[in-house]
Amino acid sequence: MQFDSNDTQYLQDILARLLATPSPSGMTDAVVRLVCEELDNLGVKYELTRRGAIRATLPGKEKLPARAVIAHLDTLGALVKGIRPNGRLEVVPIGFWSSRFAEGARVVIHSDHGVAHHGTILPLKASGHTYNKEIDTQPCEWTQLEVRLDARTANAAETRTLGINVGDTINIDPGTVFAPNGFINSRHLDDKAGVAAILTMIRAVMQKRITPEVDCFALFTISEEVGVGASHVLHGDVAEMVSVDNGTIAPGQYTCEYGVTIAMQDSSGPFDWHLTRHLLAICAEQKIEHSRDVFRFYRSDAAAALEAGNDLRTALICFALDASHGYERTHIDSLLALSQLLAHYVESPPLFKRDRAAIGPLADFPPADAQLGQGTEDVL
Ligand SMILES: [Zn+2]
Repeated sequence: MQFDSNDTQYLQDILARLLATPSPSGMTDAVVRLVCEELDNLGVKYELTRRGAIRATLPGKEKLPARAVIAHLDTLGALVKGIRPNGRLEVVPIGFWSSRFAEGARVVIHSDHGVAHHGTILPLKASGHTYNKEIDTQPCEWTQLEVRLDARTANAAETRTLGINVGDTINIDPGTVFAPNGFINSRHLDDKAGVAAILTMIRAVMQKRITPEVDCFALFTISEEVGVGASHVLHGDVAEMVSVDNGTIAPGQYTCEYGVTIAMQDSSGPFDWHLTRHLLAICAEQKIEHSRDVFRFYRSDAAAALEAGNDLRTALICFALDASHGYERTHIDSLLALSQLLAHYVESPPLFKRDRAAIGPLADFPPADAQLGQGTEDVL
């Protein structure tokens, strides 16, 4: 399946809409609605869990062994921890990210009943003319930050009168910029770029009237950044699950900046041998630029599915992301490569028919030499 400029345009458009819709963990209803509307437009059926995780279905020639591709809709964010005597807000992070990247961020505080206020996250010592060199020596911690509200308030009571409360959700302005040469700068590319890549694959499959070999579910979760990930209700019958998330660009990493990175292991252990190599083989056959990498401080939706007690084959495929959980940047070519890999994956036959059931016969269980090989050394 070849992609063209329409697919590129769609990917950019849907990504821009996703990034413009705030969705820190715990405040994901709007982005769930956006994705559901998009699935309606594409003619894809879906169901929701109580809290809004989405399971969309691409019906296959056969139902089992079913597959899933999965990405998360929630992002990092912050929360009002307290109201300071000067009327400004103490903040704590939602998800795991450094306060270093919060300094200077424009924010919207989302309070009860749809009340929203704008502001800026600042270090406690923010004025050069007052603090001089103390600005550079103050610690870099969340407790050293406050939100300056764009509202007339000089004390805690006045801030409360605005309708702001402890526990209100703070969305960080993503500062999205699509450059003409394909670079995309924005916060929250993790994992909205992954969501956009999956939706682009779905659109291509629907428009080109491709019937997947087996049922394929597209799962969109809502609490990955706080460690929950895929819930059991989403993937009851799934035998193979491919997580779509970011691959970090950093010294010592092998992330493919303009292509796909196949993760071989993350904090939760090695990914499925056969599924991982199946994806690598598709990349090689289809000439999709790619690399392999290992992540140390990383946990994806797939890990949550395994920890929930499911026996399924999992893999993690990544778009390139520079400065993850900070000032993130990716490239459109990396996202397109990811979409193409997903499309070819959906078209490919299932790995093992015996995977239809959780428990089955030896039948087409993989042969030993698929992993062990023969070697060349004489054994006495
Ligand atoms: Zn992520």
